[in-house]
Amino acid sequence: MEIIEHITNIFSETFGEKPAHIARAPGRVNLLGEHVDYNDGFVLPAAIDRATYVAFSPTDSDQTTLLAADLNQRASFSTQTIQSKTETDSSPLPDWAHYPAGVMWALLEAKLSTQAMNAVYASNVPRGSGLSSSASVEMAFMIAWQTLGKWILPAMQCALLGQKAENQYVGVNCGIMDQFASACGVENNLLLLDCRSLEWKTIPLPSDVAIVIADTMVRRKLTSGEYNKRRAACEEAVRLLQKDLPHIKSLRDVSVEDFNRFVGKLPEEVSKRARHVVEEIERTSQAESLLEAGNIQHFGKLMNECHASLRDLYEVSCPELDVMVRIAQYLDGCYGARLTGAGFGGCTVNLVALEKAKKFAQTLAEGYQSEAGYQPEIYITRASRGAELLV
Ligand code: ADP
Ligand code: MG
Repeated sequence: MEIIEHITNIFSETFGEKPAHIARAPGRVNLLGEHVDYNDGFVLPAAIDRATYVAFSPTDSDQTTLLAADLNQRASFSTQTIQSKTETDSSPLPDWAHYPAGVMWALLEAKLSTQAMNAVYASNVPRGSGLSSSASVEMAFMIAWQTLGKWILPAMQCALLGQKAENQYVGVNCGIMDQFASACGVENNLLLLDCRSLEWKTIPLPSDVAIVIADTMVRRKLTSGEYNKRRAACEEAVRLLQKDLPHIKSLRDVSVEDFNRFVGKLPEEVSKRARHVVEEIERTSQAESLLEAGNIQHFGKLMNECHASLRDLYEVSCPELDVMVRIAQYLDGCYGARLTGAGFGGCTVNLVALEKAKKFAQTLAEGYQSEAGYQPEIYITRASRGAELLV
């Protein structure tokens, strides 16, 4: 594979020997259950066939040196500098290095060994487009340190440590879905995760159905404020609904019926946000039996409803995402289309009859370009395996 050759060559040029190991960890796409992970709901992601690859070798010094090939940047840190988020020369650790360094930090917190290493990594998961390039970097380094430390943790525990790294070291308040999907992916399967109990199961995707990801190429900056506002609205809804429904701990515990009974007591904006969450959790609970019965048609309708809800109730869409989804939903072979990830830009996910997928991708690209004025990137992808050591 090209990307493996690329990092192997850079490793040899930089460190004067071939790398001892190669690890990979995929990005992910979520098919249903958006903005419900932090409300204890269900999510339905799949690991995709795009991944971060890291070439690495242990070193005798106590200094870990990383080279991010895609950024052409280098950073060095050690167990001594990790707390202060500095490099070994005392300069501040660059932002991109917080992801792998955060993994080292989380492992140290968990009293697991973090053997110093030399590493070169690169990825074909697009950055910041909602396919979770960050979790793929974290999980790739998790495998690297696990390999060198010879400790073994269940994949879900690795995911939780990756999430801790991103929450507490990088400072991004993400849920568990991204790291979970990257760590636990199964070929040709969707993963149904209960974000409260962390129980999960696989659901096979029929072999004649393709997952098509369409990148609008629009990236919104400063969306973390909007994200935090949505989280706060959900918390407020729970607080207010608890007066009538004292048993509820999160929106997960509110049925659609109960919600409709008490929604009048919520302020307008809070009620819209909470309605999305309550109805989306209901949609994901229908999804399991639909998929198990092979009813992709009906499942696709739930994806379309999800998009409308994210657009009108949760208000995390943007004109480009709406254009991409609207065009897709009219195309031949498309079962369902919606924005995926946090929103405000990034990608849509589409379920498409496999034999129609190429034509779908082409027509969607042309339609989007003529309406939105940007050339999109479209990936026909497959549900793939989770993080693993390749060599
Ligand atoms: P995403 O939705 O892709 O996860 P994030 O904003 O959560 O978007 O994470 C993107 C960040 O992760 C990048 O800004 C960078 O710091 C880090 N990252 C992702 N991919 C790479 C890579 N190939 N090389 C170095 N850093 C990366
Ligand atoms: Mg991310």
